[in-house]
Amino acid sequence: MKLWKPISLFIILWSLLTYVLFIQSFSKEVQQSISQQTLTIIEESNANSASPIEKFISAILLHDNTLNYQNTLYLVHQQKDASSVQALPFKPIVLSTLFKVLPTLIVLSAVALGFALVGAFFQRIKTGPSIDAMCRKTEQMMSIYGQRSEDMTGFSGLSQLNYHLKSLLQIAANHKSQTEHNALCDRLTQLTDRHAFLEHLNTVIDRTEKDPQQSAILFIDLDGFKQVNDSFGHSFGDEILIQVAERLRSIVRSQNLSFKDSDSVLEYNLARLGGDEFAIFIQFLDKSEQAVNIARHVLSELERDFVLGSKIIKISASLGIAVYPDSAATPSALVQMADVAMYRAKADGRGIYRIYSPEMGSKLRRYHYLLEEMRLAITANNFTLSFQPIIHVDGSSISYFEALVRWQHPVEGNISPGEFIPIAEESNLILDLGDWILDEACRQMAAWYNAGMRKARISVNISGVQLAHRPIYDWTIAALNKMGLPPSSLMLEITESCFIDVSDEVKGQLERLRADGVMIAIDDFGTGFSSLSLLANLPVDVLKIDRLFISEAMQNPKYNNILNSIIELAQRLDLKVVAEGIEQIEQLELLKSLGVVYIQGYLISRPQSSMHVGDKVLAKSQNHIAQTGTGIWPPEKSRMIGNF
Ligand code: C2E
Ligand code: MG
Ligand code: MG
Repeated sequence: MKLWKPISLFIILWSLLTYVLFIQSFSKEVQQSISQQTLTIIEESNANSASPIEKFISAILLHDNTLNYQNTLYLVHQQKDASSVQALPFKPIVLSTLFKVLPTLIVLSAVALGFALVGAFFQRIKTGPSIDAMCRKTEQMMSIYGQRSEDMTGFSGLSQLNYHLKSLLQIAANHKSQTEHNALCDRLTQLTDRHAFLEHLNTVIDRTEKDPQQSAILFIDLDGFKQVNDSFGHSFGDEILIQVAERLRSIVRSQNLSFKDSDSVLEYNLARLGGDEFAIFIQFLDKSEQAVNIARHVLSELERDFVLGSKIIKISASLGIAVYPDSAATPSALVQMADVAMYRAKADGRGIYRIYSPEMGSKLRRYHYLLEEMRLAITANNFTLSFQPIIHVDGSSISYFEALVRWQHPVEGNISPGEFIPIAEESNLILDLGDWILDEACRQMAAWYNAGMRKARISVNISGVQLAHRPIYDWTIAALNKMGLPPSSLMLEITESCFIDVSDEVKGQLERLRADGVMIAIDDFGTGFSSLSLLANLPVDVLKIDRLFISEAMQNPKYNNILNSIIELAQRLDLKVVAEGIEQIEQLELLKSLGVVYIQGYLISRPQSSMHVGDKVLAKSQNHIAQTGTGIWPPEKSRMIGNF
């Protein structure tokens, strides 16, 4: 409470009263001195006028007619004659007045002090309990916000209340700015959220409407983040996102792209748009190379190892760039176009950037169209399987049939798996589709198995999403049991790139499948750049060398050497080698010379319907099947030469 007002009022009144008392007493004293004839006669010619200070004091005491005579101040009473005056000594009168007034003043002060104390006492009695109650209340309020009040014993209730109220005000101010911050920022990464980011873009673009300034959005999406989440758990994934945000924040700062509100800690030019999507806004783009340089910097930063406890994780990102005003005129359209460009980067191989161009929009529309159509096709059962034989070069006996999914669209006709499988994987539709593929492949193989083909296997492609979401051991065994098929009739193909991300838990399950008799193949080997040491520890039986790799080896001696080394290494690791995509007899001869005995490719056969396979194998070679447990697949005669 502010006390200065009553205190100053009291001082003013007290001073006034003292003054009045003093003046009155002083006048009386002067009268008394005159009546007692203590007047001094002063020759005016011997006297001086009083000093300014003396004049001031005597003016305050309302007796300003003074003279200085022999260094003593006198009050002039009256003119005696032309040259002399009757006067009274000033100092003794002042002193005697002071002595007379002092007791009265002391009594008065004591009474005033007494009144003040009694008043304060009664005030305390009256307000004390309610102040204490308020103190307790404010203390409770502080503890709600986790703030403990300091030890204030010895301080008055009012001071304590004052302190608590100040603390509460501080808490309220902090809380307000925290709430504002939370409303605009992503809780996990502390980056601006999508909404605040778009608003910021709006403001910037509005501001520069009259004089449009080039700017750019970098849309960043992590590659394979879903697998990280699935394999290591969500809290692990969260940690990765926090580290990604940290790396992006330092890029934004080092590249001088920062934009902050004066009273906010939020970095408005960097946002987490949701999930594993981030965006950077380059507000003033000097030239388009600037966006590209920053994009490259972002990609290389995100490719650096992420260290979490004892684990080291590698991820990459795909990045789309859209430039304002060339790519789009509004913030949300700009972000959308950057998103489209990012999709293109994903489709073109991941870990790269793409700059938006209008034809990309049609790609995205195609993506969404196929996604919807695929949903319908799965429920309507519009998929079929084709089977491509993998044969042993000596005698053309069938070792495996690779089951390959086919989609005959009512309007589009045949849509290639190369186009729809990536979309199915990205949208997780591969889970439902993959369930059907495994069941259907096992159903078909069961029919051939029961017809005597007990040595051939059906080989089914499994995607990384399935490995992450399906309990792979139980899922496979259940499909086999449903069709009454032994595990020795099945092979699972997993691409090399999926194997790189596979968790130890999944590896363990694959190991159990192998122990039961299911074979595991590493598909498209040579394209995933996995390390050879990784290969030694994988639970695999078969290595399928990618067809691109083989066709390169025909023209390029370096590839030839690498192919040679891969085959040698596979043989040392006791792995069977299948050569994919053999189209020419020269390729076959090369692979035979390198010791490869399992061959797949158009030279032997294109993928065929189950009816065709049935006709070709079962109908014509029953005796052979009965003797060997598998059929033979004579290659297309027109293509073959020599004794193959
Ligand atoms: P993949 O598993 O490596 O399958 C081999 C692909 O090579 C097949 O293409 C096959 O038709 C093709 N091919 C075989 N021999 C030759 C040849 O001599 N020359 C050429 N140019 N191509 C040959 P397809 O059926 O178009 O499948 C492409 C990819 O789609 C597959 O590659 C596989 O990764 C994926 N895929 C196909 N079916 C399935 C499936 O049922 N499930 C999953 N998850 N993926 C599948
Ligand atoms: Mg395959
Ligand atoms: Mg392959």
